[in-house]
Amino acid sequence: MTSQCWSCGTPDPQPFYRLRGIPISSCVLLDSRAEAVEFGTGDLELCFCEACGFIQNDLFDPDLLDYSQDYEESQGFSPTFETFAQGLVDRLVERYGIRGKKVFEVGCGKGDFLSLICKSGGNEGLGIDPGYREGRLDPDIDATVIQEFFTEPKPELTGDLICCRHTLEHIQPVGQFVDLIRRSAAQRAGSVAFFEVPDTSRILKEGAFWDVYYEHCSYFTLGSLGRLFRAAGFDLLSLRTGYDDQYLLLEAKVRDSESSHPVAAENDLDETRTGVRSFVRATEKAIAEWERRLDEAKASARKVVIWGASSKGVAFLTSLRNGDVVEYAVDINPHKQGRFLPGAGQEIVGPDFLEGYGPDLVIPMNPIYIEEIRADLARRGLTPEILAV
Ligand SMILES: [Zn+2]
Repeated sequence: MTSQCWSCGTPDPQPFYRLRGIPISSCVLLDSRAEAVEFGTGDLELCFCEACGFIQNDLFDPDLLDYSQDYEESQGFSPTFETFAQGLVDRLVERYGIRGKKVFEVGCGKGDFLSLICKSGGNEGLGIDPGYREGRLDPDIDATVIQEFFTEPKPELTGDLICCRHTLEHIQPVGQFVDLIRRSAAQRAGSVAFFEVPDTSRILKEGAFWDVYYEHCSYFTLGSLGRLFRAAGFDLLSLRTGYDDQYLLLEAKVRDSESSHPVAAENDLDETRTGVRSFVRATEKAIAEWERRLDEAKASARKVVIWGASSKGVAFLTSLRNGDVVEYAVDINPHKQGRFLPGAGQEIVGPDFLEGYGPDLVIPMNPIYIEEIRADLARRGLTPEILAV
């Protein structure tokens, strides 16, 4: 089967990593363990484009996913994440004068970020997302959300700031999508686009198997993200990593000249190629290490939980042969508690549950939350071993 790069169109991106039968969605929450373990699966084959550095799951089938389902992606309950989000908002408001302006957010989820930027800058907000739920927006702000996918340019679907966070990695035709964003931005003079996606260079380097999952069909590094936007007719205003180098942050505006100049941060193609070559071995090593730890925990009857009932948690648990040693997934988001993780089947509990349960080993699904988790546990008089992925 021949394919082409969804970003630059170059034929035959090179396959380098395969997974069979992984849960097709890792943010959909189920009402029972039986439903959770029976959840639908799909296959993954990551392919690398030598021309632009973009990585795609060539076996991705968008028809398997339904983003209007009970999808809970909100991260807005962690103080660490809220501090990060507020920092982003302050920067965008200050740097681009986003005060009393119109903010358009594509893939706004439950509207947490849209609420924040409307409140901070006194802005008017418009969001679009098929997974939005009525009543989740801050009632004190001037914002509305359309429950649809963003598929065609319309005069009202634009803004002085166009935000798109943790959405592009879910999209297959990324070239067409960024072109749609450019047409949307071009309707309003001076419009700035802000994009945030996971950084794949870290995933490749660390063999982070918990960061590869079905919903993420598109994987970017600074270089491939910058090249995609420049090819679509944008000038880059800023291209950097953030959130402990876990995310890529891009700010761009529609280019008004013919020529386009790469920025220094794009120069990572050799590094990406090296990461792609070593990724399979790095994931095998990381998986073997976690399986050994869970075997040891089981042998000594230690109680193990993961912290973070997210996509990372699902990918982590379903990649290990002994993921069932982990009894519960802890999450501070009350909308997740009492539900079950797709594929893996663990019940999601709140931190309160741990007071009676008394875990011996807590595995945070993101090292950035270690101190927040340690403090939460200490307040409850709990001092389990904490070992992050
Ligand atoms: Zn390409």
